[in-house]
Amino acid sequence: MKELKKCTGRLCRKRAEVDAPMHNVGMSEKATVSPKPSGSQALSAPQKALRKLGLVRDEDLALHLPLRYEDETRIVRLASARDGQTVQIEATVTSCEVSYRPRRQLLVTVRDGDDVCLLRFFSFYPSHQKALAVGTRVRVRGEVRSGLMGWTMMHPAFKAAGGELAQSMTPVYPTSAGLSQAFLRKAVVQALNRLHWVETLPESLEWPIRVPRWSLQQALQFLHHPSPEVSLAQLEDRTHPAWIRLKCEELLAQQLSQQMARRERDQLRAPALAGGAGVLHAQLLQTLPFGLTAAQQRVGQEIDADLQRTVPMHRLLQGDVGAGKTVVAALAAMRAMDAGWQCALMAPTEILAAQHFSKLVAWLEPLGVQVAWLTGSQKKKERTLMLERIASGQAQLVVGTHAVIQEQVQFARLALAVIDEQHRFGVAQRLALRSKMQAAGMEPHMLMMSATPIPRTLAMSYYADLDVSIIDQLPPGRTPVVTRVISDTRRDEVIERIASQLTQGRQVYWVCPLIEESEALDLTNATATHAELSEALPGVMVGLLHSRMPTSEKKAVMDLFTRGQMGVLVSTTVIEVGVDVPNASLMVIEHAERFGLSQLHQLRGRVGRGAAASACVLLYGTPQGGRLSETARERLRAMVDTNDGFEIARRDLEIRGPGEFLGARQSGAPLLRFADLQTDGDLLEWARTAAQRMLDDFPSLAQQHVDRWMGAKSEYLKA
Ligand code: ADP
Ligand code: MG
Repeated sequence: MKELKKCTGRLCRKRAEVDAPMHNVGMSEKATVSPKPSGSQALSAPQKALRKLGLVRDEDLALHLPLRYEDETRIVRLASARDGQTVQIEATVTSCEVSYRPRRQLLVTVRDGDDVCLLRFFSFYPSHQKALAVGTRVRVRGEVRSGLMGWTMMHPAFKAAGGELAQSMTPVYPTSAGLSQAFLRKAVVQALNRLHWVETLPESLEWPIRVPRWSLQQALQFLHHPSPEVSLAQLEDRTHPAWIRLKCEELLAQQLSQQMARRERDQLRAPALAGGAGVLHAQLLQTLPFGLTAAQQRVGQEIDADLQRTVPMHRLLQGDVGAGKTVVAALAAMRAMDAGWQCALMAPTEILAAQHFSKLVAWLEPLGVQVAWLTGSQKKKERTLMLERIASGQAQLVVGTHAVIQEQVQFARLALAVIDEQHRFGVAQRLALRSKMQAAGMEPHMLMMSATPIPRTLAMSYYADLDVSIIDQLPPGRTPVVTRVISDTRRDEVIERIASQLTQGRQVYWVCPLIEESEALDLTNATATHAELSEALPGVMVGLLHSRMPTSEKKAVMDLFTRGQMGVLVSTTVIEVGVDVPNASLMVIEHAERFGLSQLHQLRGRVGRGAAASACVLLYGTPQGGRLSETARERLRAMVDTNDGFEIARRDLEIRGPGEFLGARQSGAPLLRFADLQTDGDLLEWARTAAQRMLDDFPSLAQQHVDRWMGAKSEYLKA
């Protein structure tokens, strides 16, 4: 929803250019809009613009709701107008002339009783002057401003006085250049007239109490053309019954498609991984250098229970950074191997995949487990060998990057697919991994891991197709990271602090600013900081890591740091995920105000992994003479306040709003356009139960409802 607001904000500014003035309506434009122009017919410019906005079907137009409304239902006397109000007046032109100071403009004065208003036009045609000739009575609509010179209106819309008044409020739609409000309004009216939306909710089910007797069609008609006496506040904050009705429809569609995906999956089969003596599983538990936390044991049992079923698991394993998700995944992998099957683990970056690989090899090779390694940067010969071992089933565990889902990779017997940092993968990639099981109707079990927690209630109810396990406890012996926010002007003190950590034998990360527009600038910055620190810390090995280094170099740098030979690692954000060097005790993040909250939390999670007291310094810079934005300050404050990833997620949700939080990239689920999960929790609950009953008893209505709302998008929900 945030997304929509943002983009409509931009569109809104353009409005002045695209909003046809009143005297043009119906003259210059023929708004005959065919919703589905046949392929051979050339599209007119506004039709193309419609397509660009995704307004193709009648349904799309009907659901394209106004940003706001204008009141053309009545004439307001100037005497009773308020400063800044958008009003429609009727008045007589008393003067009309072109002025050249300070720039060319048309100045028109109109009189309404004792009040006078000055109309200014910076762009105008001779037709304006004609229509606004002295003595003409005109109807003028625009925002009135009261100033030293009395009332003024900039670029108002106008036409001859005395015409009929509108019956309902006039909608103002989000639009884009080349698509006038007039064209869009007509298109919407035509779409609404053509549409005959039958109700999809069976009569035996009831809408929540907050929805009175509005049909969907009525609700939409109303939202496009509300009657003059409507409470605009209720429309704006989306609490009007017509809005509630629409939100229910949307949430119902969302819940239906999630539950349908789940039911579909329940028809598929996966290998049941019970049985076996559980030798490897038991051995790994025994040889681990630590005991599992209670939380790890609990989620392990939840996963085990899923794996024993013949239905594919679809589980999200959430746990704060450092909570110990990897070992839980490794234990699940042991279940697969104990039953004679293969397991794949996919991570979003090569560094992270390599870390998993070396850790898993260290744990598993002593047990005789064969681990294969797959990445894009691999030598051909090595790769061919790996592919053979995977295809023959000799490799029991395959660890790698996106390379794991490439076409050439054929598993002999894949039973479990683990995706680390799942939110970094797209929907298509998750689907690809699921299809790596050769037998028809079979799918591997899926375990998705994420340290970007979605608040539990949200996850449980929204992602009806996902089971969620949460590791809500850190391994013992960790000391909480102390976070401080420090101005960049105090860099010297921070460097002193680094020196003192180094003399204690500790290591330090320094993460360089994120410069969104330019990777090249990122690099310049990191290089400069690298030089600065190298000079300030003589005798210390300071390394540099950035995303455009060749893989072999990255690996060499990472190795030096992991082995403790390198004191300071300067990097761009490539170390964001998963890196595990317990001896590192200080994390400095430069220009922390430019990072998102969850990213800051991830970065901070790189320290505090050992017993030593650790700290995180958030350096901030302010634009010359400026102040940090309010949201930047809120983010930094949240970081100081808490180390708890779930609390961070909650704050993030507050600062950003759930629309963005559940962004399509992160979840694969389409954004909700109308409902708001924070305020509409009760409607979501209703939708959840209603969806269940519809799928049980009215499957064809359910399908109809989903098609109407989701169209092609519903495929995406299956990943
Ligand atoms: P994350 O959940 O962020 O992926 P990791 O799996 O990388 O965390 O675990 C972080 C560190 O904690 C690793 O060094 C791991 O070996 C260690 N670890 C995991 N579980 C435990 C435990 N129960 N006790 C002690 N250390 C543990
Ligand atoms: Mg991890």
